[in-house]
Amino acid sequence: MEFCSTRNNELRVTAAQAILQGLAPDGGLFVPTELPSFSEEQIMTMAAMSYPRVAETVMAAFLPGFSKEELRGFCKEAYTGRFDDPQVAPLRNVRPGLWSLELWHGPTCAFKDMALQMLPRLLPAAAKKCGEDKQVVILTATSGDTGKAALEGFAGVEGTKICVFYPKGGVSEMQRLQMVTQQGDNVQVFAVEGNFDDTQSGVKAIFTNEAVRTALAEKGMLLSSANSINWGRLAPQIAYYFWAYAQLLKSESLEMGDKVNFVVPTGNFGNILAGWLAKKSGLPVDKLICASNQNNVLTQFLQTGTYDKNRPFHLTASPSMDILISSNLERLLWFVTENGEQVKHWMQKLNSKGVYRAGAELADRLRDEGFMGFWCDDKRAFDTIQDLWFGRGYLCDPHTGVAMNAYNQYTALTGDKTPTIAVSTASPFKFAKSMLPAMGLDFDGDDFQRLEALEIVSCRTAPPSIKTLRDAPVRFDKAISKSKMKESVLRWLEAQA
Ligand SMILES: *Cc1c(COP(=O)(O)O)cnc(C)c1O
Repeated sequence: MEFCSTRNNELRVTAAQAILQGLAPDGGLFVPTELPSFSEEQIMTMAAMSYPRVAETVMAAFLPGFSKEELRGFCKEAYTGRFDDPQVAPLRNVRPGLWSLELWHGPTCAFKDMALQMLPRLLPAAAKKCGEDKQVVILTATSGDTGKAALEGFAGVEGTKICVFYPKGGVSEMQRLQMVTQQGDNVQVFAVEGNFDDTQSGVKAIFTNEAVRTALAEKGMLLSSANSINWGRLAPQIAYYFWAYAQLLKSESLEMGDKVNFVVPTGNFGNILAGWLAKKSGLPVDKLICASNQNNVLTQFLQTGTYDKNRPFHLTASPSMDILISSNLERLLWFVTENGEQVKHWMQKLNSKGVYRAGAELADRLRDEGFMGFWCDDKRAFDTIQDLWFGRGYLCDPHTGVAMNAYNQYTALTGDKTPTIAVSTASPFKFAKSMLPAMGLDFDGDDFQRLEALEIVSCRTAPPSIKTLRDAPVRFDKAISKSKMKESVLRWLEAQA
């Protein structure tokens, strides 16, 4: 298995190089040129495995050049003792035919931990395989959750430095506090005056800037990314799709070969793409339901084949999905066309005009692949959260609420009874501010008073890592304009050297 750029089929690298570089030099994303294939027997054996073993088995197939022993060690470290549930990613039954895969039991209470507890182990190993002895500088744009998960994963990791940019005012107060209170000598955090897309574009621009690369190389540093543009982020995410299916086999809720649907709250398209990669590698998946909030650019794309980011940007109660440029869609476009020139053309159009038309035929192909898109606004997501809480005693966060609402729309439209797994991406306590109104409760108070109120009404305790934010000292309070991102990183690295 080799990797090529989504914008150039001829640009070939190994898995280690793909992880180390993060983004291809031509601005494309790295994709494997062929996919592994898991047999029914292999999937059945996963029903008896722990999460770290499933992760090791699945990741080994997507990371050629990394040995099983090596990955076993990484998985054991990443997924043992750091999650507050012994299952790591428990699968809960919500109502007949519907399960919730809770991916938020890690240290930062969002699903990003599933991959970002792993990436800091993969990256130094990848550097070593490439014979690289430079310091790896991680630049990350975040819509809220990636930033903290990446900081937590990389803080104190030998041979790495990490700098996170978040859109000022575009993340929840808890998310902001999680980031600006991060400990560690090798970390830096900036608020950027702009939205997530500005922040992500700024990071991409630094990446593809030759002068920056040269200047850093002279200091013995090289750039990489902890965003889901990095293959090292996607590979660990494929594992939990297999895991979820195996849990249903284990509980005899289905028989090997029976299909399941997944509904995924989507922003940058990394999570749902991992689900599709699992499907293409043999997991019996039927529909992949792409759930969006009011920033519903993907819903329109899946319905029409036109991607149009020229629309108002909405700040919603599900901030980690407030995204108009879904980076990982580029990978799906490459997989279904296998045409780097074509993808490059679309991405250039997106860059220059904010819109590209892949056509109704391509939209049909994506439907054949199982993709369907639905969206809802905050009000509808909140209604769904209330229904699930009062009707089923199941509490989900606003992002997962969008997914649950999309699933309701899907079943109302199709009547489909296929067992379905909703991918639950954040702890409700991370979004306590929205949770009380979502549950129909009126409450005045600051974020921490709301957190306590949520504990009382839900009869659950909030994760300690969130409760202690109230008294944690703020280390990073700098806001910069989007034109100053490059300069700010370089100045920080200068001071670090
Ligand atoms: C990142 C995130 C998402 C979106 O995931 P993508 O892989 O970007 O599509 C959804 N929900 C939460 C809570 C997140 O942190």
